[in-house]
Amino acid sequence: MQDSKDVSRRSFLAAAGGLALASALPAQAQGLPFLIGGSTATLLPKGKARRVVICGGGWGGLTAAKQLRQLAPDLEVVLLERNPVFFSCPMSNKWLVDVVDTNYLTHDYLKVSEKYGYRFIQCEILEIERDRKRVVTALGALDYDWLVLSPGIRYNYEAWFGGERRLAEATRARFPGAYVPNAEHFRLKQAIHDFKGGDLVMTLPPPPQRCPPSPYERACLIASHFKKHKVKGRIVILDHKDAIRPIGYGFKQAFEELYKDIITYVPNAHVREVDPFGKRIRTAAGDFSFEHAILMAPHQAGDLAWKAGVIGKNPEGKPAGWAAVDPLFLTAKEDKDVYVIGDAVGFVSPQFAFYPKAGHVANRHARIVARYIAERAAGREPKYVLPDNLCYMMVSADPQLDIAVQFDYKVDDKGVIIQTQIDDNERRPELVAEDFGWARNMYEDMFA
Ligand SMILES: Cc1cc2nc3c(=O)[nH]c(=O)nc-3n(C[C@H](O)[C@H](O)[C@H](O)COP(=O)(O)OP(=O)(O)OC[C@H]3O[C@@H](n4cnc5c(N)ncnc54)[C@H](O)[C@@H]3O)c2cc1C
Repeated sequence: MQDSKDVSRRSFLAAAGGLALASALPAQAQGLPFLIGGSTATLLPKGKARRVVICGGGWGGLTAAKQLRQLAPDLEVVLLERNPVFFSCPMSNKWLVDVVDTNYLTHDYLKVSEKYGYRFIQCEILEIERDRKRVVTALGALDYDWLVLSPGIRYNYEAWFGGERRLAEATRARFPGAYVPNAEHFRLKQAIHDFKGGDLVMTLPPPPQRCPPSPYERACLIASHFKKHKVKGRIVILDHKDAIRPIGYGFKQAFEELYKDIITYVPNAHVREVDPFGKRIRTAAGDFSFEHAILMAPHQAGDLAWKAGVIGKNPEGKPAGWAAVDPLFLTAKEDKDVYVIGDAVGFVSPQFAFYPKAGHVANRHARIVARYIAERAAGREPKYVLPDNLCYMMVSADPQLDIAVQFDYKVDDKGVIIQTQIDDNERRPELVAEDFGWARNMYEDMFA
């Protein structure tokens, strides 16, 4: 895949005897194989078809790629993702305690991209140059007509450690939150299985956060594992919030009725200081030492949203941490050719502020945005569509029991998006079947 521009540039160099300049030139221009690439090389020359570049191949990005190919087959669709395989965060709490295996969570990017005719490129995205409508990756740059950003979240360790990089790195390496797909999960799983007893502390980030009910699910399933394997461990949940939310009553009952001696719930535990070397944490609700910890720093929109310059501002004029979007059309506030979907989406409503940062919502956003782009590509004005959300949480692994929550959205007569929430607090096995059915449908929607 040689770019003709690069080839002619190389010929020019040879003619001019410009060898001394060669090290400053793009990898392709230096005669390196294109798979070694370089951020200034051309990754994919643009043909006649209009192109949608999707940044991030998680729940939102993957769904968007497939939907776009189905709704707008004339568009070229390119999906950029750093990971070689897809690893699902939803259902991963069950995997931590061996309810499902690794194959259940991992899926193949290449097969589905070939089936639906979009281009999957595994690469690190380095920069997003909106003024040039260009994405720069470690393998080269590519132009776009429309950009879909689905970068997920980043951990805001800066809120805990300021500029103390060493503390942030030690915390992430030793006590990962395991809220960003992949390697951290394997480390946490090992730590749970190696745990011999003592206190396992979990810090829960302030809202908005990725999948708010899932840390409580994680606590229940680890407690279930301790019970089964007779581990004398205590799980201390240090919650930033003043109460468990959502499905608060269902989780509270599970803590009290199933794990009375194992789970200690501490509300209003705003983190003041974290010492990953001394294994200590100071909070507004007291100080705690631990054998092991799941230290979840506050969440923010993923790095790519920052690099794309789409992060909103709070009333003090500081970065709000999440992408500023048009609430109904999910375009970046200042760029109608850039869509943001999934967890990175910022404030959308004065009633509920943020959509739940859930894979279900990312999937719905992706379907909606694919429709908007297809409409625009066909020269039509899209009409708004709203997502929904459905979430099942396993509170016991043996026997298997779930609780659930559902969210629906509509626009009121003032044009404000309104959320309704229904908690299903009664834990029961039928919801487990629905949980696995939900996951099957979602995986099929992305991969089948
Ligand atoms: C423990 C846990 C349990 C959960 N349970 C549920 C559940 O039951 N139901 C539910 O609906 N949701 C659940 N979620 C939430 C769900 O995982 C997220 O909401 C969902 O993944 C968001 O999708 P996204 O596309 O916004 O981000 P992601 O799925 O995180 O995708 C972002 C992608 O961007 C890629 N990326 C980022 N930066 C770069 C870069 N520079 N270069 C290349 N690639 C990059 C990442 O590798 C990643 O693949 C859970 C999450 C966790 C952690």
